[in-house]
Amino acid sequence: MLLVDGIGIAPRGARDPLREGSPFFAPLHPHEPSPLPGGGWAVPTRADLDVQGLPQSATGHTALLTGVNAAKVLGRHFPGFPPPTLRSILATTNLLRTLNQWGLRARYINAYRPLHPTVRRRRLMSATTLAARSSGQRLRGLEDIREGRALHHDFTNTLLILQGEDLPLWRPEEAGRRLACIAAPLDFTLFEYFLTDLVGHKADPLRARQEVHKLGRFLYGLLEETDLRETTVILCSDHGNLEDPSVRTHTQNPVPTMVWGPQADAIARMVDSIERIPQAVLKALSRQDRLQ
Ligand SMILES: [Zn+2]
Repeated sequence: MLLVDGIGIAPRGARDPLREGSPFFAPLHPHEPSPLPGGGWAVPTRADLDVQGLPQSATGHTALLTGVNAAKVLGRHFPGFPPPTLRSILATTNLLRTLNQWGLRARYINAYRPLHPTVRRRRLMSATTLAARSSGQRLRGLEDIREGRALHHDFTNTLLILQGEDLPLWRPEEAGRRLACIAAPLDFTLFEYFLTDLVGHKADPLRARQEVHKLGRFLYGLLEETDLRETTVILCSDHGNLEDPSVRTHTQNPVPTMVWGPQADAIARMVDSIERIPQAVLKALSRQDRLQ
């Protein structure tokens, strides 16, 4: 499961950096399912959570990880890091925790530098980090990248190398293949990517297209190395942003939920709104033979 922050589906006919940046996103339609390269499907998924205002990450991520309509719980969309109410929801119920309680190997595989704020301070912990910690797993570090157990959020390692870390620079396809190899022995793998949202806030169509192009190459490597007869890949987002470079804010557009593999059709039928995604994932995994 790839959680890609801040990508929505622009109205049909609009020229937008998401559709223009990569063949994976070119077919997206705001109202209908569309077939994807690699045999997958994309469906438009509502991200507004039935609450007025622009959708935001803390409420969106909490919905994507727990199935709880976090914006309704708070009475509004909440940006950035989850506040105490959402932290306690994430601590008690989330995909990683539930799947681990089922006896499955469910892992959050983003790697963090030791001094990253999310490692140190609860107030600055992302929803994914809180979910991972509540399920009893340690956050992965740079050594895990070197040993093939984790990826940095910037999967090519470019940012880490700029910060002086001694790591190889990977092409996006290579990083995607590495994600497939990390995921292969696991039952459920969560990877979060948010440079799409950061670049969306800059309202720069060229940079946005470049970011999408990189993400598309990453997806290509991931799908090429993944055995799609056995493994389901799902890409989801929390709110629109990058697809509309005329504004620096998030958007009200639906978000794409993109699925490949044996459970793609079943998941695609369920995910009309982002808080339905965890239930769709749990159902997909409960259908697999692994569960007794
Ligand atoms: Zn944002």
